[in-house]
Amino acid sequence: MSSIVWFRQDLRLEDHYPLLLAIEAGRPLVLVFILEKTKHWSIGRASQWWLEQSLLAFKESIEAKGGFLHLFHGETEEILETLIRKHKAEALYYGANYEPEERKIESRVEALCKRYGIASHKFHHNLLYNPETVLTKEGKPYQVYTPFWNRTQQFQAPEEPMPAPRSLSCCLKGASEPISKLHLTQTWDLHQIPLLWEPGEKGAKKRLKTFIDKGRVEDYEHDRNFPAIDGSSKLSPHLHHGEISPRVAWHSAKASLTYRKELVWREFAKHLLYHFPHTTDHPLKPEFDAFPWQKNAKLLKAWQNGETGFPIVDAGMKELKYTGWMHNRVRMIVGSFLIKDLRIHWLEGAKWFWDCLVDADLASNTLGWQWVGGCGADAAPFFRIFHPDLQEAKFDPTHEYIKKWVKEPSKRIVDHAEARDEALKAYHSIVAHRKK
Ligand SMILES: Cc1cc2nc3c(=O)[nH]c(=O)nc-3n(C[C@H](O)[C@H](O)[C@H](O)COP(=O)(O)OP(=O)(O)OC[C@H]3O[C@@H](n4cnc5c(N)ncnc54)[C@H](O)[C@@H]3O)c2cc1C
Repeated sequence: MSSIVWFRQDLRLEDHYPLLLAIEAGRPLVLVFILEKTKHWSIGRASQWWLEQSLLAFKESIEAKGGFLHLFHGETEEILETLIRKHKAEALYYGANYEPEERKIESRVEALCKRYGIASHKFHHNLLYNPETVLTKEGKPYQVYTPFWNRTQQFQAPEEPMPAPRSLSCCLKGASEPISKLHLTQTWDLHQIPLLWEPGEKGAKKRLKTFIDKGRVEDYEHDRNFPAIDGSSKLSPHLHHGEISPRVAWHSAKASLTYRKELVWREFAKHLLYHFPHTTDHPLKPEFDAFPWQKNAKLLKAWQNGETGFPIVDAGMKELKYTGWMHNRVRMIVGSFLIKDLRIHWLEGAKWFWDCLVDADLASNTLGWQWVGGCGADAAPFFRIFHPDLQEAKFDPTHEYIKKWVKEPSKRIVDHAEARDEALKAYHSIVAHRKK
């Protein structure tokens, strides 16, 4: 007899409800991680590197406590069924995942548990608030951030995080594939990514400590806007893989309400993905489906390579390529440039980010791109078009950020004023169409 703990985007031991409650239940434990490459929005390149490193670190910390992590590659339902039979499992413990493909996997697993008469315990421990419960008075999901935030503040404050278990000697050992069998190993150039990041729970803790100890949390409200300043926490990839729980970040950052509000933007993104799963591929505002996008491989490539001739855009795209991360302000600028100056579909931008970001997250990426494109929840209106040069003057006044990434400026691929007029014409065409 045993309990299975199924790890997903929660590769940590601290503040891990499924693990702690499975231990409390007293049966021997089978800890398992399964890589099922989903058919749609399958894990991107930079994230594959991160996941591999994160799993290595996770396996090591489990083994240090006397435990064992079963790693598999394939169909979740099939693998769990084998484990259920082999270890005579009586219960399954796991954390919810809000991505549409993952929810399909979850339903199959729930059906499997029913077939075998196994108790299934699902937790929302990667969020501060369960997205199913943050609803308007009419019982509807929110589409605007501020009322969403206000509603969350009526809930009980997020609980204090729970410590990691002292021992995992209650774990059963068994057959497991080596991490190399998960086929996450890369053949592409990772540039500076492996030098800059330390995936895993320990790396996450170090990032948080730096953010708090160096006083960045106190200066966050101001500094986070300037890409030349190391002013944000850079916890996003750790939060995405669940190497740190949002409760830990929330309680550690009590000095900054603004920081807590950013953590709730992450919650809002998950909430939207949960209630509007189609938005991974379609705009929340359906009229934008008729937007006359340009298909232009040459312009797209120039944007991807950071060769647009607009220094702030090119710096951002280079930062992304070399580090696997990009400053939030610059994400908005490069996004606006792709969508409005080049009139290339926001999905092309979302896909490129998906492949290059170590923090690629389906909920936050979808929200970010639709926000920039004016077609999502609480989005910036489409007609408010960023002028890259003015953004640069405002947010990188000393050109420190630009100089770091752009050595030789290239020739401009578009004229911003003309591109802006074209974008507004295109926008008015869909507005006129909607009014008909
Ligand atoms: C076009 C676009 C695409 C984006 N794609 C992603 C993505 O794939 N993954 C991702 O994690 N974030 C994404 N973001 C949101 C944001 O840029 C990053 O979360 C942030 O830059 C991460 O850096 P940080 O950890 O230093 O953030 P901090 O400023 O330290 O914020 C703390 C945490 O709050 C959350 N957060 C902050 N801002 C946002 C936001 N606007 N939306 C959602 N959560 C937020 C993140 O989890 C972040 O780690 C995107 C934004 C845009 C405009």
